[in-house]
Amino acid sequence: MVIQGKEVSNKILSEIKDALNKNKLEIHTVALYFKGDEESKVYFQSIKKNADKVGIDFKITEVEPAKLIDEIKRLNNDSQTDSIIIARPFPEGIDPVEVSDSIDPDKDLDCISPYNLGKLNYKDYDVAPATAKASIDILKYNGINLSGTNSLVINRSITVGRPLSQMLLNEDSTVTVAHSKTKNIEKLIEESDIVFLAVGRAGYLKGSSIKSKKIIVDIGINVVENKVMGDFQMDGKFEHIDYTPVPGGVGTVTSAEILMNALKLKMRSK
Ligand code: NAP
Repeated sequence: MVIQGKEVSNKILSEIKDALNKNKLEIHTVALYFKGDEESKVYFQSIKKNADKVGIDFKITEVEPAKLIDEIKRLNNDSQTDSIIIARPFPEGIDPVEVSDSIDPDKDLDCISPYNLGKLNYKDYDVAPATAKASIDILKYNGINLSGTNSLVINRSITVGRPLSQMLLNEDSTVTVAHSKTKNIEKLIEESDIVFLAVGRAGYLKGSSIKSKKIIVDIGINVVENKVMGDFQMDGKFEHIDYTPVPGGVGTVTSAEILMNALKLKMRSK
């Protein structure tokens, strides 16, 4: 089975739209990207398309790296700005800890502040890291129960693997986290029910190498010869493998999760 993201994304977007109408809310968010980072600009434009659909004002603004912290502080104090997201990865010279410390947790659209990340430990998803939440929701909305599963997360970044492994624990999955120094990943893959894959290398894992029943949640995004591809390659027909496609899988849901964060932050401040 191919586990698609579009329907999940549409459901989340319609939940947001309904909540905005019901509570008569207006939301204004600001997305900051750095000059020359066209990839982030395109990414923000795709979120803006969804924001327009649900009625969230999503303003995309360029910022100079040297002025980032001042701009975050200005927006923290701006009563017309409900939430802020900053393009990642940050350019050289930007200290990620300084950025995450400087953002007001109540305006932290991308869930990067230590306060919001810490709340995950208490199963509090008032606002959640969007990619991690999308990786779980794409399964849950498709009726896949995580409780009692053995999951393998191949990634330990602060953006993906760390929050995702915490959230999987919260779902009563037994979690293994792998990274570039992990030995014998093939064995760990075979022993798991679900593999969350975010290495950032096209074709890192192939269907033909998997022997047992498995769900692959492909989080990787790679551009190869102008084509967007994930880390997983279904190089044949394998009935025992269910997987999320790239494009059209986790990434599609991530954009909706960011807007859900905007709604939750607005509700928090009410
Ligand atoms: P990252 O910080 O570079 O993390 C890559 C992770 O993969 C690291 O933990 C790294 O291990 C591990 N890794 C690298 N080579 C490996 C190998 N041979 N075997 C096992 N593990 C290996 O990147 P990221 O920001 O987390 O993003 C990862 C991927 O997810 C990228 O393709 C990115 O585009 C995609 N992404 C998608 C979304 C979405 O919404 N779908 C959102 C964010 C990111 P070490 O820690 O040891 O280096």
